[in-house]
Amino acid sequence: MENHQFQEALESLKNTKVRMTPQRHAILEFLFSAKQHPTADEIYKALESKFPNMSVATVYNNLRVFKEVGLVRELTYGDSSSRFDSNTSDHYHVICQDCGKIVDFHYPGLDEVETLAEHVTGFNVKNHRMEIYGTCPDCAKGQAH
Ligand SMILES: [Zn+2]
Ligand SMILES: [Zn+2]
Repeated sequence: MENHQFQEALESLKNTKVRMTPQRHAILEFLFSAKQHPTADEIYKALESKFPNMSVATVYNNLRVFKEVGLVRELTYGDSSSRFDSNTSDHYHVICQDCGKIVDFHYPGLDEVETLAEHVTGFNVKNHRMEIYGTCPDCAKGQAH
């Protein structure tokens, strides 16, 4: 459960004004151990037995705090709820269209696309988002029989 990135996150929090609470510790630990890009709701469900007084809103507010200090990234998907990513380095996502699982995928950043987009449109381009969709191995197995 205790991994290197989680320890680093705890260390970097000490240098911010963010006060560590048992709830925050548990949310952060879940995020760093899950690797599944959970929603606030999923985190809430995983931790509600431990913290009966905690609400989904509390989880969400804590996630926003982590986001503000750069510990997590929020992935927004239009109408459905946001997912949270403890991996803040640049990476892409492969998303299963059957179960919604999001897996990290490392690929050199497509900087040329940004440069070209800037050149063609005159926009001041800040970032881009690329997602790859398909069926994950677990779901593919399930469909086989
Ligand atoms: Zn799947
Ligand atoms: Zn990710």
